[in-house]
Amino acid sequence: MPIRVLDPTLAAQIAAGEVVERPASVVKELIENSVDAGATEIRVEAREGGKRELRIQDNGSGIPSDEVETAFLRHATSKVTEIEDLFSIRTLGFRGEALPSIASVAQVTCLTRTAADEVGTELRIAGGEIQAKTPRGCSVGTTFTIRNLFYNTPARLKFMRSDATEMSQISTIVTQYALAYPNIRWTLLLDGKLALQTPGNGRLLDALIELYGIDVGREMISVDRTSEAEDETVRVHGFVSQPSTFRAARSYMHLFVNQRWIKPQGNLVYMIEEAYHTLLMKGRHPIVALNIELEPEAVDVNVHPTKSEVKFRNQSHVYGALTKAVREALAAQSTIRAWTGFG
Ligand code: ADP
Ligand code: MG
Repeated sequence: MPIRVLDPTLAAQIAAGEVVERPASVVKELIENSVDAGATEIRVEAREGGKRELRIQDNGSGIPSDEVETAFLRHATSKVTEIEDLFSIRTLGFRGEALPSIASVAQVTCLTRTAADEVGTELRIAGGEIQAKTPRGCSVGTTFTIRNLFYNTPARLKFMRSDATEMSQISTIVTQYALAYPNIRWTLLLDGKLALQTPGNGRLLDALIELYGIDVGREMISVDRTSEAEDETVRVHGFVSQPSTFRAARSYMHLFVNQRWIKPQGNLVYMIEEAYHTLLMKGRHPIVALNIELEPEAVDVNVHPTKSEVKFRNQSHVYGALTKAVREALAAQSTIRAWTGFG
């Protein structure tokens, strides 16, 4: 075959593979956009594993009517303008890839309104082609409806798992963000049934209790420690469970870097479990919701298209800070228990 430049729709479908693997990845990208838009309420609805329909509704800034089509162009973003920005990222998104990727492999409706626009805008786009743009009344914010994901890429559709598996992946994603952003009121509906809801009052412990129950809530220990090294400040804060409360899986360990959920990369998990030392038995893992906060310049988030892996400028400082913060919290707790005779 001669060398040819790919047709833009095909190029977008190929690129979409990196960002949109399954319904849960669509949910992830869209809720990140809602968070970036300053939403205080985010509602996620999924039907039939999210394969049939996903709806993500927020009360964020909305998209100006004359920019709605642009938002769906490849590499179109309102978050980054120069390469230096990448090293001081304060938003979850920055690649300008999510909307065009999703729209190339699904039927998408975007209903949005900014406070400055009198009336909302509805844009319908399917397989990367704009179908219609119509004015429509709505409140300030944005609602994305994604129907029939992968309807035009049958090969990818075959990789979808059962509805139950896809639904549980969606729950996992929403849980992670609900813990990263306790100041946002999160609601998740699966096939019309309420699956989770957080109060959005800014208290991480309240979010943990909503998600994991009051008994787990009682067993959580508050962590908050700031470490300084050379010119770098690392604050580790959140909650970890008592050594007596554990899980057989690591899926209850939630780690965030500047409120961005990150894959519990082996070493970070190890640094936390190291703090428990002999208190945790082999194969048992604590329940953790910890945020590592440091200057955006001290962390590179542009390591992977899904943005769920990071590199630290001073890795050993961050690792040390993590272990010390958890160890100190555990030690303080056991001292209190010894004094008061509880435990
Ligand atoms: P990125 O998030 O990397 O900028 P996206 O493709 O996810 O790229 O989104 C493109 C642009 O569309 C964003 O930069 C933002 O300006 C706008 N946008 C997307 N979703 C929302 C939303 N829920 N509320 C407001 N603006 C949005
Ligand atoms: Mg985005």
